[in-house]
Amino acid sequence: MKTFYIETHGCQMNVHDSEKVAGLLAGRGLIPVASPEAADVLLLNTCSIREKAEQKVYSRLGEFRALKKRKPSFVLAVLGCVAQQEAMDLIEKAPFVDLVVGTHRYHEIPHLLEQVRVHGRPIVRIERMEDPEPVEIDTVLRENNFRANVTIMEGCNKFCTFCVVPHTRGPERCRPSWQILEEVRRLVDAGYVEVLLLGQNIDSYQDPSSRKWKFAELLKAIGEVPGIRRVRFTTNHPKDFTPDILAVLERTPTICNWVHLPVQSGSSRVLRRMKRLYNLDEYLDIINSIKTLEKKIALSTDIIVGFPGETDEDFEETLSLVDRVQYESIFSFKYSPRPNTPALKLEAREGVPETAKQWRLNRLQSMQRRIQEHQNRQLVGTVQEVLVEGRARDGEKWFGRTPSNKIVNFDPDHVVPGQFLDILIVGFGPNSLQGQPV
Ligand code: SF4
Repeated sequence: MKTFYIETHGCQMNVHDSEKVAGLLAGRGLIPVASPEAADVLLLNTCSIREKAEQKVYSRLGEFRALKKRKPSFVLAVLGCVAQQEAMDLIEKAPFVDLVVGTHRYHEIPHLLEQVRVHGRPIVRIERMEDPEPVEIDTVLRENNFRANVTIMEGCNKFCTFCVVPHTRGPERCRPSWQILEEVRRLVDAGYVEVLLLGQNIDSYQDPSSRKWKFAELLKAIGEVPGIRRVRFTTNHPKDFTPDILAVLERTPTICNWVHLPVQSGSSRVLRRMKRLYNLDEYLDIINSIKTLEKKIALSTDIIVGFPGETDEDFEETLSLVDRVQYESIFSFKYSPRPNTPALKLEAREGVPETAKQWRLNRLQSMQRRIQEHQNRQLVGTVQEVLVEGRARDGEKWFGRTPSNKIVNFDPDHVVPGQFLDILIVGFGPNSLQGQPV
């Protein structure tokens, strides 16, 4: 086993987990390659948040089976939420898979690969760690050298009725604040200018060290690390989004003016059935306090349409919320039944027909598109600070991000990824801005 390739599906947490696994393998002398065909070991890091994502895993595995036939020594490993959820079932459905590793066991991957090589039979390792702190892998092979993901906590204790995360990621486990700060300081020393703090329910962070910091205190300390230019964090739960976080956001210049605050529905009735632990008025109170800050904050959210029992009136309330808040972006999805979740039973009794789900999603997305176009139009003629990230999709333009998380495309100049530029906004679309360096 000399080379490896990791294909990652799903959220930013998975992207960062893959960076950690890549670091572990590179530390053992394996070389990362650019395609599955060139690899001796292929690791598929999976997502099970929606049914479609899970189906995609099996279809990708079907494609990789051909590689395995061509090269019998080829090792195929499945990681992530589907691995955790399916365990032995995965081996039964795809017997050519060599290794299944759950979300708590990534630090064991080099050893498990060795076991597969020695014993030549499939291994499933999905047992949860009882340790209250996550095992930190600090040999990370990051995707770039200017913006770093940093996990501060894992898992979730909320158990929203539609969500698999508490089942696949387990209960909340937080890293000690001193360890996180040490990592951020090391990153800044290595030239990183932006950190994205990650956690499934980041604002419920509780420091397990003797400092006993809450999220706001940790955020402030990270924002004050000398040399850091930008700090982002995701994702929040409205129940835990307390005023002290807002105060830190307002007063700490390095903390970006972007807040992702998933609402899921604009109907208090649906929110109750989702067990979201807040109602619409409570959510709007938080939005109002964010909007009264002097620092102008860009808001984004997640919305599920067609949750079991959602009526036309419930959905209209969601539209009215979106119109009222004027989010800069939303991630919207049709409700997808997930194993082991209470909403699965509701779906059997009160499932919204697929055509209604699709119609609601289309209406929501076209409304949001108009909102984004309107907001982006207002930015034409302004100058935005952009952190250059790389080449745009067309391969000719460059792209970067404003502190408020807007994508800006601009024409070639003498730039390098990781550089900050002032860009004059000259055009817009619903999803991005066009600009010229000034
Ligand atoms: S808070 Fe988020 S991660 Fe936790 S159960 Fe609810 S939706 Fe899932």
